[in-house]
Amino acid sequence: MYGGGTVTASPHPPPGVESVLESSPDALLVIAEDGTIRLVNAAAERMFGYTRGELVGQDHRMLLAEGFRSGFHRLFFALRKDADAGRTAVSGPGPATAPDAAAGTVPTTAGTAPGTAPTTAAASALPPVEAYGVRRDGTEFQGEVACSLLVQDTDGAPLSMAVAVRDTSHRRAADAGLREALSLLSATLESTADGILVVGGDGRIASVNNQFVSMWGVPRELLATQDDDAVMGFVMDQLVDPEQFVEKIAALYADPDSESHDVLDFLDGRTFERYSRPQKVADRVVGRVWSFRDVTPARVAQDLITQAMADLAEQAALLKALAFQDPLTGLSNRQLFNDHLEAALRGPCGTAVDVLLLDLDDFKEVNDILGHHAGDQLLIEVGRRLRECIRPNDVVARLGGDEFVVLLVGSLDPDAVADRIVASLRAPLWIDGTMLRPSLSLGLASIKEDAVDASELLRRADIAMYAAKAAGKNRYLRFRPKMMKSLVERTELEAGLRLAVDAGEIAVHYQPIVSARSGVVVKVEALARWERDGGIVPPAQFIPAAERSGLIVEIGTEVLLKGCTELGPWLAEDSVRALAVNVSGVQLQHGDFAELLLAVARNTGVKPRQLVVEVTESVFFHDDCHVIQQLTALRNAGVRVALDDFGTGFSSLGRLQGLPVDTLKIDQSFTSMIHTGDEKLPILSCMIAMAHGLGLTVTAEGVETSAQAEYLMKLDCDSLQGFLFSRPTGGPGLQPAIARSNDAFAALRGERVSEPR
Ligand code: C2E
Ligand code: CA
Ligand code: CA
Repeated sequence: MYGGGTVTASPHPPPGVESVLESSPDALLVIAEDGTIRLVNAAAERMFGYTRGELVGQDHRMLLAEGFRSGFHRLFFALRKDADAGRTAVSGPGPATAPDAAAGTVPTTAGTAPGTAPTTAAASALPPVEAYGVRRDGTEFQGEVACSLLVQDTDGAPLSMAVAVRDTSHRRAADAGLREALSLLSATLESTADGILVVGGDGRIASVNNQFVSMWGVPRELLATQDDDAVMGFVMDQLVDPEQFVEKIAALYADPDSESHDVLDFLDGRTFERYSRPQKVADRVVGRVWSFRDVTPARVAQDLITQAMADLAEQAALLKALAFQDPLTGLSNRQLFNDHLEAALRGPCGTAVDVLLLDLDDFKEVNDILGHHAGDQLLIEVGRRLRECIRPNDVVARLGGDEFVVLLVGSLDPDAVADRIVASLRAPLWIDGTMLRPSLSLGLASIKEDAVDASELLRRADIAMYAAKAAGKNRYLRFRPKMMKSLVERTELEAGLRLAVDAGEIAVHYQPIVSARSGVVVKVEALARWERDGGIVPPAQFIPAAERSGLIVEIGTEVLLKGCTELGPWLAEDSVRALAVNVSGVQLQHGDFAELLLAVARNTGVKPRQLVVEVTESVFFHDDCHVIQQLTALRNAGVRVALDDFGTGFSSLGRLQGLPVDTLKIDQSFTSMIHTGDEKLPILSCMIAMAHGLGLTVTAEGVETSAQAEYLMKLDCDSLQGFLFSRPTGGPGLQPAIARSNDAFAALRGERVSEPR
C-alpha cells in the first residue's frame, strides 16, 4: 500500500472492502482538495486519539506537527499533474524526509460527506515520506505517510487524496539501538588493549583506535593522510625483520579472504602479536582489519622462564659432570673410572683391558718444599701429560692425592704406553720459578687370558706399582704373580724391623771418602745395615719403612753411637778425619737431635768438628724452623752439614745460598753421566763452580771408574766416594778398605801403590 497502492472509493463498497479498510493497522484518511478530512478508518481514530466524528470535516493540518503543515497543496498538485500526464507513478516533489517540502501534508477533499468516497482510482501515487503527527493530547510521533490520488468515476472531479499513515516510532527506537550499538563498539574498540587499524578496499585507512596510535607511535598528521602505505613505511622502520613483514602483507593482499596471525619483533625489544582478517559486508570483502597486541611482558616472562630452564639444565649438567669429575685436573674420578672398567670387562671376550696405576714419586716433598699451590700445579700438569700419552677414548682418572689411573681397552701395546708415560713425566717443568723433574712409579695389570674382576685387576696394578717403587721409582713394572710374594715380604719386613731394632740387629758399614787434594781417605760414611737371617737387607728397603714407622730415630741413634764408638780410635789419630752419618728429616723434627748428637760425641770422645751430618734438601723446607735451628746449633758446635743426593728430586741450585750447609754431595746419577770422560757436562761443572762460589766443598758420589774420577777432579771436585775406591764394609774391614782406597787414588795419579795388606 505504501508508495504506490491504490484505493477505490465507492458509495457502496462491496461487502468486505470496508471491513478490510477498518481492520487495516495503518491509519487511512481521505482528504479533499481543500484540505478537509472526508473519511477516516478505525486505526486513524486510534492513532490520533480523536473519534471519527471529531475528525471528519476538519482541516487535516490539526493532525500534523509544526513544520509539516504546509506541503499539502504542492503534493496534491504534483499528484494531479502526474495523473493528468497519465503516468502510473510520480516522483516526490522533494527529499523524502524534508518537512513541508514533500508529502508531509495530509491532503483533504472538501465537501465530501462522511461515508461517501470517490468511485474511481487514479494510478497516481508517491513514495512514502517521513512526517511528524500530533495526537489529540498534543504529543507528537514520527510516521511514514503514503499518498495517492482519488478521482470521481466519470468527470474525475472533485478530487481527493487517499492518505495512509504508519507510526514509525518503533524505527526510531531501532535507530537508537543502532546508535547505542555503535557507541558501544567504539567504546569497546577504544578500551581494548589491542591496537586496531581498519584499511578500506581502496587502500586508505578507514579507522584506527587510540591504542594503535600510541603502540606504534604513529604521528596524527600521518594518520590524517589516510595513506596506508605511508603508515606501513613508518611501522616497518621499527621492526627487526621488515622484509618478512612486507612479504606477509603482500601475501594477504593477494588473497583478500585470508586471515593470518604472527609475531612481530621490534628493534626496541618489544614484541607484538598481529592478527589480520578481512572486513566483510554480506560476504563481500570491503577492507581488512589489523589488530596488534603488545605481548612484550608475556614474552619477557617467557624468555625469563626459558633462560631459567636453560640455566637449570646447564647446572644439572655441570653437577652431573662434577659428580664424575676430579675438580682439580678435570679428569674422570674414581667412580667414573670404576664404571668404565666394569663396562670394559663386560665387553667382548678376548678384548685386551689394561689398567695402569701410577703414583708420583716424592710428591709429598713438592708440597712440603714448594707449597700446596705448586703441588696442585704439578698434578694438573701430570693430568695433562697423561692425556697426551693416550688415545682420546682411553680413560685417565685421578683417584686422589697423587694417584692416577689409566684404562686402555683394546690396546695393542700397553707396555709402550706405560713407557711413554714414564718418559713424558720426566720432562722438566717450571713452577713458581723452580724447575721440577717429576717422576712416577707405575704398575701395569692386564687381562687377556685369565678372567679377573675389576677389583682384582686394580689390586694387581697396585702391587706392580709398589714393586716399581721398591725397585727404585721412576719406572713401570708389569704385574707378575711373584710380586704378591714380595708384597707379603714387605709387610713381614716392616714387622721384622721393629724386632731387629730391639734385638740390636742393625749394624753399620763404612765407606771411605777420598780427598782429591791430599789423595787419602779423610772421611768415612756410616751406612746402616740390617743383618737378617745371615743376609743383609739393603737400606733402600728398610729405611723408608723405618721413616714411616718412626723407627728411624732409634736406628739413626744406633748408627751414630756405633760409628762414633767403632771409629773413635781412627778419628782420634788425626783431627782432619771425619765420620759422616745420614740423618733423616724425621730425626731432626722430633726431639732435640743436636743435643743428642753432641752428647754422643762427648761420651765417645769424638770432637764435634769430626762429625758430618748428611741431610737431603727436603729437610729445609718444613714449615717450622726447628730443623734449621737444630742444624744451626750443630754447626755452631763445630759439626759440619752435607747436602746429600744433590741434583735429584727437587733440588735447586738457586736455593743453596743461605742454607746452613758446608758440603754438597753430588748424586751418583750425575757421576754416572760420565762414560768416556770426553763428554761435555756443563751441569756438573756448573754445580761444582756454584758450590765453590758459595764457599761449600763438593763430594762426588758413586764414582765407579777412573774416567769418572779424573773428570771430576778436573772440575776441581774436593772429594770422591764410590766403588772405585771401596764398597761400604763392616767395621773390621775398614782399615783394609781405607788402604785400598788410598791405593786406588794413587793409581789414578800414576803413583806406585802400597803393598797389598
Ligand atoms: P746415600 O746416603 O746416598 O748413601 C750412598 C749410597 O750409595 C749407599 O747405598 C752406597 O752403598 C751407595 N754407593 C756408594 N758408592 C757407590 C758406587 O760407586 N756405585 C753405586 N751404585 N752405589 C754406591 P746404601 O748403603 O744402600 O744406602 C742407601 C741409602 O740409604 C743411603 O743413600 C741413605 O740415603 C740411606 N741410608 C743408609 N744408611 C742410613 C742411615 O743410617 N740413616 C739414614 N737416615 N739413611 C740411611
Ligand atoms: Ca749419604
Ligand atoms: Ca747420597
